[in-house]
Amino acid sequence: MNTGTSICDPSAPAGAASATGSFRLQVAAVIEETADARSLVLDVPRELRERFRYKPGQFLSVRVPCAGQLLTRCYSMASSPLCDPQPKITVKRVAGGRVSNWMNQQVQVGDWLEVLPPAGHFCLAADADEQRPLVLFAGGSGITPVFSILQSVLHAGHRPVTLVYANRDEASVIFKEPLQQLARTHEQRLEVLHLLDSVQGFVTPTQVRQLLRLRRGGEYFICGPAPFMDTVESTLLALGEPRQAIHVERFASPPDPRPPVQNSSPPAPAQPCQSLTVELDGQSHTLAWRPGETLLQSCRAAGLEVPASCEEGICGACMCRVEQGRTRLASNAVLSAQELADGWTLACQSHADAPLVRVRFPD
Ligand SMILES: Cc1cc2nc3c(=O)[nH]c(=O)nc-3n(C[C@H](O)[C@H](O)[C@H](O)COP(=O)(O)OP(=O)(O)OC[C@H]3O[C@@H](n4cnc5c(N)ncnc54)[C@H](O)[C@@H]3O)c2cc1C
Repeated sequence: MNTGTSICDPSAPAGAASATGSFRLQVAAVIEETADARSLVLDVPRELRERFRYKPGQFLSVRVPCAGQLLTRCYSMASSPLCDPQPKITVKRVAGGRVSNWMNQQVQVGDWLEVLPPAGHFCLAADADEQRPLVLFAGGSGITPVFSILQSVLHAGHRPVTLVYANRDEASVIFKEPLQQLARTHEQRLEVLHLLDSVQGFVTPTQVRQLLRLRRGGEYFICGPAPFMDTVESTLLALGEPRQAIHVERFASPPDPRPPVQNSSPPAPAQPCQSLTVELDGQSHTLAWRPGETLLQSCRAAGLEVPASCEEGICGACMCRVEQGRTRLASNAVLSAQELADGWTLACQSHADAPLVRVRFPD
């Protein structure tokens, strides 16, 4: 692992995008949160403020050189765009994890990181019902996007909020003090329920049912380890909560980049696409889906700025829905079986598989 003061080209100008669309941001502060998690506050220069404007719940993708490869990892912003002047990411060590341990051990104030602009859909709807309770479920490092949403809602809205926050033990609770402070300041609106594996064991469907007894009919956000998320999500669905009211963010690393294969060409599409229609920002565009290209590449070639971030099928920033025809995914670490069945796909990994394809990007 490169351990210099700059992990990206130090001679590159700070405000300019690299060939892959990333920017250099300097680490303005490092906050040790727990024994195995720390926050990095990033300095976004004036000329990049618009580019790095974000919604509560979104993430940044960081590119880190490691053993001759460039590894991309997503980190949700734990800061609130309404309360904090600069974005802050919080990274928890993963056993054997390369980037998370490097971020915790090596990164210092003044270092430069290679960062892609904010992305992601784990966000409140712009027209959310102000009367509707918000129920947030976080496990471990899954608190990061949830904390951003929580602070923002308390700052700007009126909705009652419940946070159910599961951790291994008390020492591993990230943001313990800020949460206590928020609960004191907003005692009429915020309820924080801590669950500790060391006390209650892992969260069970029965516990989730009990927690939800007085908190039904809300909007739910879930982020944490996969078994925690699965338990909460399946219990909510079994209780009859509508799928559209449940938002999930799954943390995972993308597969390592594969070395380029000489003289290889992309796999031929099962069915080439003759006409591609893209619904984006309320407008309809008809374009060519060039053979061998991904949906994202064809959109870009036609000059369409569709949302994207990691471009490795891991972050979900380029999620869109296939409304006509069919596509084939080269790689997918983010969409659930249900989302695939509902027609969702990832533009960065989608290849054409029907003569006529129409896709819609969410607003
Ligand atoms: C949208 C999104 C938001 C996220 N936000 C956050 C956040 O706010 N905070 C946070 O801490 N994390 C977050 N993550 C997770 C983060 O992106 C990384 O996945 C995490 O930090 C682990 O990366 P790593 O490089 O340390 O681990 P990796 O090196 O990718 O390893 C991950 C696991 O795989 C194992 N492993 C690695 N290589 C191999 C191999 N060759 N064979 C077998 N096993 C292997 C490791 O031992 C480890 O257990 C987020 C992820 C997503 C998708």
